[in-house]
Amino acid sequence: MFDSYARNIDYLRVSVTNRCNLRCKYCMPEEGLADLGHTSILTLEEIARLVRIGARVGIRKVRLTGGEPLVRRNITKLIADIAQIPGISDIAITTNGMLYADMAEELKAAGLTRINFSLDSLNPETFKYITRRGSLNEVIRSIAKAIEIGMAPIKINTVVMKGINDHEILDFVELATRMPLHVRFIEFMPVGDLPFYKTDRVVTVNEVREIIEQKYELYKGVNVQGNGPAKSYHIHSGIGTIGFISAMSDHFCGECNRIRMTADGKLRSCLFGKEELNLRLALQNHASDEKLIDIFSKAIREKPQRHHMDEGWGADNKRKMYQIGG
Ligand code: SAM
Ligand code: SF4
Repeated sequence: MFDSYARNIDYLRVSVTNRCNLRCKYCMPEEGLADLGHTSILTLEEIARLVRIGARVGIRKVRLTGGEPLVRRNITKLIADIAQIPGISDIAITTNGMLYADMAEELKAAGLTRINFSLDSLNPETFKYITRRGSLNEVIRSIAKAIEIGMAPIKINTVVMKGINDHEILDFVELATRMPLHVRFIEFMPVGDLPFYKTDRVVTVNEVREIIEQKYELYKGVNVQGNGPAKSYHIHSGIGTIGFISAMSDHFCGECNRIRMTADGKLRSCLFGKEELNLRLALQNHASDEKLIDIFSKAIREKPQRHHMDEGWGADNKRKMYQIGG
């Protein structure tokens, strides 16, 4: 279905939980987590029904995210159910990689087609500092497992932060020269007023590019499946690719094809917007499929032309990243 700005909205991001086994400083507070109990989040059956409704208004691709999607019990069953929905041709997941290695085969068998790992440092101490509780070894084991079982493409999301991990940019590029990985450098975004966000910690994608181009030549024109907003490049003799996601310095709203559903059942047409439509309430009121189709259609019709985060109001977004689904 097309929105009011002629964008074809065919991609639904589904946050399946607010919970997470990590506490990344740019995403979650360490304490006082506004955790949603089981009673306030959508059941897996409700999620599957809503994705089916989404497919009826033109959704073709689904990405499961969170929080950490792999901490949600029976996630494999949800993937299998979504894979059966007519019209859905692509099911992806964004994960921190802590639990993936031991679930990889069952997820693939259920119908998972693509995977993105979030990884901001290749140094165990920095990794621990950013995530507050993660283990780099587990994530590396998961990435190796994804390669071993033939997941493709495999993407690595790296949020670049000045003074924290910006000295590792070339290490990540080197990783993409050696392995079939698509490393995407992401600009640090002010979502949800976390004290860790500071403007002087932001490294723009242009700055990242300049650092890379001092050592590597980047070749344009690669089309990595499902790469959405990332601009991708080959490096000479590399098997992977490098991408840049510039939500702040050069927003890509004109090409945005997605809407989002939060774990508590709110439909959002923009990551950085404040508007939400309450699907969970509709379900509680025994909404018919037609009523739910109306809600999806309204979200798509009213999708804003662009976000205004760079004008300073991203921070007063009440939800933090883990509560929306990045
Ligand atoms: N837990 C999963 C993970 O970390 O991959 C999925 C959810 S996480 C919220 C999704 C993505 O959002 C991650 O790649 C993370 O790096 C990114 N993210 C979270 N907060 C961010 C911020 N303030 N700026 C930029 N990216 C952010
Ligand atoms: Fe958890 Fe992902 Fe947020 Fe890190 S980025 S705290 S792994 S939801």
